[in-house]
Amino acid sequence: MRFTLENWAEAFASLPVRPRPYRNAAVSLRGHGVDEQAERARVLVEVGLNVFRFPAALIPGCDLLTDSGTTTMTMPQWAALLLGDESYGSNEGYFELKRQVVETFGPAWENRDRNFESVFIFHQGRAAEHGLFSCLGRMLDARARVRGDGRPWFVIPSNGHFDTTQANVEANGFEARNLFSPEQRAKDASAPFRGNMDTGALHALLADPATRERVPLVYLTITNNTGGGQPVSLENIRQVSELCRAWEVPLLFDACRFAENAWFIREREPGREGRGIAETVREMFEFCDGFHISLKKDGLANIGGCLCVCEDGLLVKRFPGIREALTMHQVLVEGHPTYGGLAGRDLKAIAEGLRTAVRQEYLDWRIGQVGRFGAAVDEACGADVTVKPFGGHAVYIDLDRFFAGTGLGDGDFPGISLTALLLVAGHRLCELGVYAFGKEVNGREVGPEPRVNNVRAAIPRLCYEDEDLRACAGAIGLLYRERERVPGVEVTYGKDRPMRHFISRFRFRDGTIETRRRAENGAGRARTGA
Ligand SMILES: *Cc1c(COP(=O)(O)O)cnc(C)c1O
Repeated sequence: MRFTLENWAEAFASLPVRPRPYRNAAVSLRGHGVDEQAERARVLVEVGLNVFRFPAALIPGCDLLTDSGTTTMTMPQWAALLLGDESYGSNEGYFELKRQVVETFGPAWENRDRNFESVFIFHQGRAAEHGLFSCLGRMLDARARVRGDGRPWFVIPSNGHFDTTQANVEANGFEARNLFSPEQRAKDASAPFRGNMDTGALHALLADPATRERVPLVYLTITNNTGGGQPVSLENIRQVSELCRAWEVPLLFDACRFAENAWFIREREPGREGRGIAETVREMFEFCDGFHISLKKDGLANIGGCLCVCEDGLLVKRFPGIREALTMHQVLVEGHPTYGGLAGRDLKAIAEGLRTAVRQEYLDWRIGQVGRFGAAVDEACGADVTVKPFGGHAVYIDLDRFFAGTGLGDGDFPGISLTALLLVAGHRLCELGVYAFGKEVNGREVGPEPRVNNVRAAIPRLCYEDEDLRACAGAIGLLYRERERVPGVEVTYGKDRPMRHFISRFRFRDGTIETRRRAENGAGRARTGA
């Protein structure tokens, strides 16, 4: 071939391994050594095997407890922090964030009404959920209204309520109902948009006036965290919105990972060629009447959340008092509505984070890294143990497959054992399965319906290198090979508490499965002999 620079450029472009689209501008050295397993084991017992209570400073490996607030901020974000305006009311960051909301989500989110806010700032996502559902609960007197069987009268349908959303919905007297997509229920590993809502089920709920009057609003979680971080298609968003608009039921998004969801739409949905991420985001947000977001996710910030209300949307139309109620709620619990429990500097860092979150090269790398980690976990286990297709922010280990054939049952909570043992290895993951989503009712365990049983490895944004994640995959692989030796746990505190996985304490059952089986056999023989 003749020498041209173009030929070389093409040759380089085809190389499989690319550099990251960013580099480290600051690093945090881990004070604790990788090899101090014994020390971690001691502390693990002290904290009752509760991953949330384990000191982060003792984790030298990957801290994959959550992707929430764990982002490594960019240099422009750190610069924005220094420019923070700490005035009590209407600081610079407040105006900047409101401008950025319109820039990111589109003109429908402009605050034209001088009397009321449209962007309600909160210190994080669940505070926004609490604000919305406590105000709505009071307006509808939801707690006082129950059906014949004692269940709440009002139902909030979703493609998959996140745990805190579910808790806030239920605490305020509503039923949280998941309308998982058929692909999600069938655990279809090739479905491009497993996070979708089951529109047939939504239609059935809204078409009948008797059930429709019990639905104050509908929620779409994008991406669907509970369903495995799976995306929702623009087509599904459009269909859900059409159903809601036909019957004048407000549609809200739980928009924590809006940019990652937009990336999947651009990547996987037919007819999206040539449309950028930013454009896709604005299209998505034309279909809803309001949204809440944890800015600790796709806001790329370490703290923050907000609830945005479309002034001409169905939420305001159906509940005209909602904005005033939210404002009063903010004054009561978050300070003034123009800072919502955040420092002025945080608002500036969030506005800057929202600009980075929709950049194509950032999302390519981010979501690509999640997939590479998932593949590394399967490879280390030599088995297909992860939920497919991989979602945008996390890899989910399917506990039913991981522990199949070991004799461990739901009541042994082996997901808790798995996360505890991984802490000894120096990595932190989180059970989101029969413990987190199950509950104890009248002394009996009731599992999540439909069944969800995973351990989640959530990948912080802009934080780890692939090498770090491969070390974590290796530890998971070791546990898989030795899974017969993983014991179950007993719950020593918190089994009957709401949101129990955050606060519970556990201890390992005595001995391994093998020794327990031997003991059981031995006891059997002893009884026979007696
Ligand atoms: C994280 C999250 C929330 C809650 O946000 P926080 O900032 O953690 O309070 C709500 N919904 C979804 C889908 C989430 O991922």
